[in-house]
Amino acid sequence: MSTLDSAATPLNVLVVDDDVDGADTLAVLLSLHGHSVRVARNGEEALRHTAIELPDVILLDLRMAGIDGCEVARRIRSQSHEAKPPLLVAITGCDQDSDRQLSAEAGIHLHLLKPVDPILLSELLEQHRSQRCNGAVAAAVAQH
Ligand SMILES: [Mg+2]
Repeated sequence: MSTLDSAATPLNVLVVDDDVDGADTLAVLLSLHGHSVRVARNGEEALRHTAIELPDVILLDLRMAGIDGCEVARRIRSQSHEAKPPLLVAITGCDQDSDRQLSAEAGIHLHLLKPVDPILLSELLEQHRSQRCNGAVAAAVAQH
């Protein structure tokens, strides 16, 4: 299968990074895979987006001025209440064990290093998409 095949069910993805070029490159790549992508340049902008609508996946730089990535993750988790929180993926240069621990404590599901392998990222999103679809089918079956 070509890496540019459209995703069967596009995900809403929010890319949060103060590195403009990095964020835009990732956004283009994910768009080519058929996902619907928004970009936020900092934590404040990310929270403005998520207050309106929670995306399926948030790709999160950790080191940002103002509200950093871990704080964004904590606030988004508290915003989502009973709703299933988005898949939170750190995409970062922070590679110390202590960085990984901080991101886990903030509720970030995956900690990936820059530069992220686009194929790996795409596979992770696809896995998330199919798990979500299977979950929806299981819920529908459980109701009958
Ligand atoms: Mg940064």
